Amino acid sequence: MKAALVIDDDPVYRKEIYRLLLGIGWRPLEAEDGEEGVALAMQHQPDVILCDLLVSKFNGFQICRMLRAQRQRIRQPMIVVTSSSGYPTDRLNALEVGADRYLVKPFKPEALLQLLDGAKPYETDLIPIPKKADPPLLVPPAMPSNEAPLIRFWGVRGSTPVPGPSTVLFGGNTSCVEVRADGEIIILDAGSGIRRLGLALAREFKDQPMSVTILITHTHWDHIQGFPFFGPAYNPRNKVRILGYEGARKGLLSTLTSQMESPYFPVSLRQLPSSLEVVELREFDFCIGRVRVEATFVNHPGLCLGYRLHTSGGSVSYLPDHESYQRMRSHGGAASSAERVELLKHASEKDQKLVDFLHGTDALIVDAQYDDQEYQTRVGWGHGCVDDVVALALLAQAKQLFLFHHDPDHDDAQILRMLAWARELVAMQGDTALQVDAACEGYEHVLKGVDAASKNGPDGTGPGSERIPA
Ligand SMILES: [Zn+2]
Ligand SMILES: [Zn+2]
Repeated sequence: MKAALVIDDDPVYRKEIYRLLLGIGWRPLEAEDGEEGVALAMQHQPDVILCDLLVSKFNGFQICRMLRAQRQRIRQPMIVVTSSSGYPTDRLNALEVGADRYLVKPFKPEALLQLLDGAKPYETDLIPIPKKADPPLLVPPAMPSNEAPLIRFWGVRGSTPVPGPSTVLFGGNTSCVEVRADGEIIILDAGSGIRRLGLALAREFKDQPMSVTILITHTHWDHIQGFPFFGPAYNPRNKVRILGYEGARKGLLSTLTSQMESPYFPVSLRQLPSSLEVVELREFDFCIGRVRVEATFVNHPGLCLGYRLHTSGGSVSYLPDHESYQRMRSHGGAASSAERVELLKHASEKDQKLVDFLHGTDALIVDAQYDDQEYQTRVGWGHGCVDDVVALALLAQAKQLFLFHHDPDHDDAQILRMLAWARELVAMQGDTALQVDAACEGYEHVLKGVDAASKNGPDGTGPGSERIPA
């Protein structure tokens, strides 16, 4: 009897595939995350593995790499990577790391049956599963703090830094946001903005040691390019921890190391004098001191995460790169109207999951790179449109929305126009507590409820932001 293993975190989908496999006389196996999936694959050596790209613990790329690395030990299954992502780069990457096929969800049962028809049978050998230790996620105990959590923006731009007179108001540095909460210094992404943050920290701590945690959403360059210039990493008294997930082609450590290799940079990552630790996460729910962090995959080429930080003074959600599933799919050319309905239903379920993840958040920092008109020519680029972002914030009942990841081609006037439009959209809803601002380099937001936050946003009217001393 042939066997097929389904690795997917959606129990409804697993059940459907399970029934389909039973119906054609196959032995179904199922796993809800990548770790369990790899263990079952090693133990039972199924003929086919149907593996979702964005599963927790090990993602689809990792699963392909790990199983293909076991060529000498186990018979190789046909690996079919399934994904809600329609980005061509994800398909290419999956095939390059060892997938045989790539199926975009939702797909027709016939498409899968056709693939299963071509799978070759083999004998099953039981092989012991190597026990792999979990990466250390030990965090030093947080210093007690009575201060309200604080968000500081150090880099708000997407794609590439664009300093200059036309970006002087909102800033030209790429993604970097500092969150101070419950005694922790948490840095969201290490775009070029992290350089100035490093200087400010050095001034603040003087000769005292500091401990910081950098959470990386993904390794596109605008989210890591500033790290080589992060001053505190050059001080042997400091502890710097970088947390993130393995990417499409390489691990986090390997990617961070590469960008500091000669001839690109004179100091290698390993030569940095601070106590530096790079941790590849598997869990989607973990703690940094007393701050609980939840992570979720978002819609962006490759692997990209969004984080929600639960602090004692409210929650901060950070999704610097994300494109609405439904909006993206509504532009896709489905063959029939029935397929289109299925496609949009699937996309709307993905959007709803994100709304649930963000529900009631106090501050939502999210990719709003394009206006509606621009978005029409940039569908599938992995970025948000301001109209969709406002809708997301309203559905999630967020209290404060920060438009983020500004387009490098947008000058200050354009961002102000987009901010005005976002506020108009909110006003059209009538009775809502949602406040909207455009993230602005050098501004800070105190997280103790919108009413308590300071006034004077970048256009002089918005709540929640105050210029920090240079
Ligand atoms: Zn980005
Ligand atoms: Zn990106």
